[in-house]
Amino acid sequence: MDLSVACYACGREGALADGPRCPCGEPVWLDTDPTDFEWPTTGERSLWRYRELLPDVDPAGLAAGAGGTPLVRAPRLDDSVGATVHVKFEGANPTGTFKDRGSAVGVAAAERAGYDAVGTVSHGNMARSMAAHAASAGLDCLVLVPADIPRARLGLIARHDPTILRVDGDYGRLYEESVRVDREQAVAFVNSDTPLRVAGQKTTGLEIAESFAPDGPDAVVLPVSSGGHASGIWKAFREVRAAGLLDDPPRLYFVQAAACAPIAEAWDRGDDAVTAVEGGETVAYSIANADPPSGNRVLAAARQTDGAVLAVDDDAILAARRALAERAGLFVESACATALAGANRLAERGAFAPSDDVVLVATGTGYTERDLDAPTVDAETVPLADLETAVAARLG
Ligand SMILES: *Cc1c(COP(=O)(O)O)cnc(C)c1O
Ligand SMILES: [Zn+2]
Repeated sequence: MDLSVACYACGREGALADGPRCPCGEPVWLDTDPTDFEWPTTGERSLWRYRELLPDVDPAGLAAGAGGTPLVRAPRLDDSVGATVHVKFEGANPTGTFKDRGSAVGVAAAERAGYDAVGTVSHGNMARSMAAHAASAGLDCLVLVPADIPRARLGLIARHDPTILRVDGDYGRLYEESVRVDREQAVAFVNSDTPLRVAGQKTTGLEIAESFAPDGPDAVVLPVSSGGHASGIWKAFREVRAAGLLDDPPRLYFVQAAACAPIAEAWDRGDDAVTAVEGGETVAYSIANADPPSGNRVLAAARQTDGAVLAVDDDAILAARRALAERAGLFVESACATALAGANRLAERGAFAPSDDVVLVATGTGYTERDLDAPTVDAETVPLADLETAVAARLG
């Protein structure tokens, strides 16, 4: 497979084999020609519906089950957002997050290229997703985690039996180190913003665009960490526009947790480059990348779509998580509740008109972290014989 890549920033073209970075320093993405693309008429529900815009691979096993997630209306959130709210529920993916989209494409491409092993640098959802997809494809999976990873999280990753290496040292440097290992060993690393991962993850955007065709939504709001998903969604709307299927792409809004918000801080300064931060603790630990590899690309996406990057604090995130569960029926990971918390903030700033269709991307299910903060539940016990009177007393 001879895939070509291009740099969003300087336009330089190259080959996938040259690695995930342009000589200018920015991340590259796959070079696709969408000019002849049309919305498919086949009934395929997975991300492979958009095969024409994806690398030519043979998805088997779990890969065929990624994507095709529901877009649901959340009318009881309309008031707080001041718009018509839709939620793209990525928790419906096989391992519970959109990471399955990138893993499906990355693992299938590695298999096609003849690799025996894939790898990733992650201690959370991406590690779990890669391990699951590798298990299904029969490839080894090398997961590099920080030495001090909490036991519960390690346990979730270990379910799919990958090779786990705890790495002692500066975890932030591992991304670059893994690129070197990729070149010298027979391991295909599919990290947070690598071209194959972004190719898979752009399908979140393609699905949103197709759901609203022939128009688009007015705005898409999503949590951002490394910037890989954001890059993919931006690319999706660029491709749909280049195909002539959408005149007016949505504004893209990206939300971070205030305790670790390098991209939002650069946005507030008016910079077009992100500076690494120290990064504090947050309930949204899945989006706490203090040195995001695609941070500059996210700034460009927000600027070019007339969107914004913002940060919300943990109280707002937890309140939004409750609102999604109690008013939309969706139990999500704290990290993705930032989308609703961010939309609420944007509404206060007057970012939306009442007639706007606003899509919140709920990036992952909450059921993977249900034990971390299990609330004390105050539910009464009643004798079976008294059931009818008990129900009448409470609901009558
Ligand atoms: C990985 C992840 C994100 C952030 O995605 P990036 O591509 O790293 O920006 C957001 N939410 C959840 C649940 C995630 O697992
Ligand atoms: Zn470049």
